[in-house]
Amino acid sequence: MTVWEPPIREYDFLFNEVFNAIESIEGLGFEDFDADYLAMLTEGWGMHAKEVWLPINELGDKVGLKFEDGNISMPQEFKDAYRKGIDEGWLATACKPEHGGMGVPTFFSSVTWSEFGTSACMALSVLPALSIGVYEVLTSNGRQDLVDYFAPSLASGELAGTMCLTEPHAGTDLGIITTRAEPEDDGSYRISGTKIFITYGEHDMTDNIVHLVLAKAPGGPEGTRGISLFLVPKYLPAEWESGGVEGISHDLVPEHNGVTCSGSEEKMGLHASPTCVMNFDDSVGWLVGPLHGGMPLMFQMMNRERLATGIMGLGLAEIAYQNALAWSRDRRQGRDLRGIRDPNKPADNILVHPDVRRMLLEAKVNNEGCRALAVWTGILIDQMNSDDPEVAEPAEALVALFTPIIKAHFTDLGCETCSTCMQVMGGAGYCSEFGVEQFYRDVRISKIWEGTNGIQALDLAGRKITQNMGKNLRHLMWPLTEFIEKNRDIPEMGEFNKPLHQGVRGLQQITLLMIAEGMANPHFLAAGATDYCRYFGNVLLGYMWAKMAKVCLERQGEPFYDAKLASARFFFKRIYPETISLAAKIQSGPKTLMDYPAEMF
Ligand SMILES: Cc1cc2nc3c(=O)[nH]c(=O)nc-3n(C[C@H](O)[C@H](O)[C@H](O)COP(=O)(O)OP(=O)(O)OC[C@H]3O[C@@H](n4cnc5c(N)ncnc54)[C@H](O)[C@@H]3O)c2cc1C
Repeated sequence: MTVWEPPIREYDFLFNEVFNAIESIEGLGFEDFDADYLAMLTEGWGMHAKEVWLPINELGDKVGLKFEDGNISMPQEFKDAYRKGIDEGWLATACKPEHGGMGVPTFFSSVTWSEFGTSACMALSVLPALSIGVYEVLTSNGRQDLVDYFAPSLASGELAGTMCLTEPHAGTDLGIITTRAEPEDDGSYRISGTKIFITYGEHDMTDNIVHLVLAKAPGGPEGTRGISLFLVPKYLPAEWESGGVEGISHDLVPEHNGVTCSGSEEKMGLHASPTCVMNFDDSVGWLVGPLHGGMPLMFQMMNRERLATGIMGLGLAEIAYQNALAWSRDRRQGRDLRGIRDPNKPADNILVHPDVRRMLLEAKVNNEGCRALAVWTGILIDQMNSDDPEVAEPAEALVALFTPIIKAHFTDLGCETCSTCMQVMGGAGYCSEFGVEQFYRDVRISKIWEGTNGIQALDLAGRKITQNMGKNLRHLMWPLTEFIEKNRDIPEMGEFNKPLHQGVRGLQQITLLMIAEGMANPHFLAAGATDYCRYFGNVLLGYMWAKMAKVCLERQGEPFYDAKLASARFFFKRIYPETISLAAKIQSGPKTLMDYPAEMF
């Protein structure tokens, strides 16, 4: 039996005390959105996730889905929970009111929503997350008739969406995909090819599914520049005959569009999330965005999904922590080394042991730091839509910079935290009865999909740092150094501000080294990328902890704020020093990797 309480007080603290979230989205079209509405949404969604989604999570893992004759049937409990989400409007928070959505800011829809959804039931939460990704790409780049026809049902959840990139021979290297798109006279295309690992590629949770498919149309250049993006429904609107869907009713019986599923993978976790082999056989599809210009659009979707994936790491780390904590309060083993705490019992509870405290605090403090960075990034995504370039430009630069770090660092930490929490619980942690074993299996995919963490690190070190003549980094250094300067002479801030300052200086030096050495030898940059990404992640979490500490210093005396200060101290003393060893590894360069004789592996 697992326990989980949505961390509502944590979000209240971040939204209202650390980031002034409501003020920071003023003038961005969220006029009716105030602190009360935000609190109501956070509480409402938290309760829905706890009462409707959490109870089906273990069942999904144990029962899973059924694949038979090309069809996938989901557990009835999943269908009921999904339906409840539709009926209560919880799947449409991110979508525009004109399509029936709530139109709430991203810092709620992509951060709080994702965390609670994943903690409660990751296997279910990826379905609406993908549909919303398709909705966003379609509504910002699709033809109006396609938007009018598909967007409202994608928004409500009545229609599900997928993202079809991967092929048997093309995973990370999408430039070599072979799925083809042949143009028709009526403006549509015929799509043919096989995609693998497609999440929710087939299922019976909705009547129809639309796939966003990467394919190559004739006349395009080689590699990723020749890739276009197509919208391909499983069932075509019945009266479709003219290349478009304008004016076609949703009520008519639709026709099959040659989209079939030939298998669903057996896998380590996420047993109730189908992972499908999808075949497109002369299937009708419509171009989304420019011909041969599909990759930037897919990246638009993937960037959102990468943020969502990072938050999956956090969501599972949070529920794992809550369960390990509950266990450690009850479990009695050994005595406090400095004297018996509970003489009436045969043993003290395991929370008295420094090593157990170390594990729990690593989990808790990393989770809270990640959550703060996620909220800040959510606000920045909203600010990217500002008409004021002084707001939009830095926001865009920071989101570009943070996306690979959030994807990679949060999911690395998510996997480590689930493992650590299993360790806290001893043998019980390894047994399925207590839940953490499932979280450990479920979270593992987050390091792999949406671009492996190794690829995220390369994106950060090889692209995001030098992009726009180094502007992304400058937009970070400005608020960071301003914060450090402002707090330099505040004695109580010294224990947080000084290490932050050292870490930022180290980050600047290491960045220069990576760029300088990387220009002469790309292996230098690639060999250090993962450690650099982790170093960067630690500095950003350090900034978050220093910012939170600043707020809490003014409110000392209340347990919530005192605990936050203790957490900030733990972070700077026991997590942040990892940057020293990371720097040493980066400086050692690629020699020990690349000079190693290939035949001796
Ligand atoms: C459960 C599940 C769900 C998925 N859902 C979807 C989905 O909905 N849609 C979809 O399109 N795909 C999906 N995928 C596919 C997923 O995105 C890919 O598995 C992932 O991108 C990695 O590709 P790959 O498996 O082919 O690994 P490979 O590309 O073969 O990579 C193998 C290893 O080599 C490394 N590597 C590869 N190239 C480089 C390089 N240039 N530099 C350094 N290292 C490199 C990688 O980091 C990795 O460690 C899913 C996969 C799984 C398992």
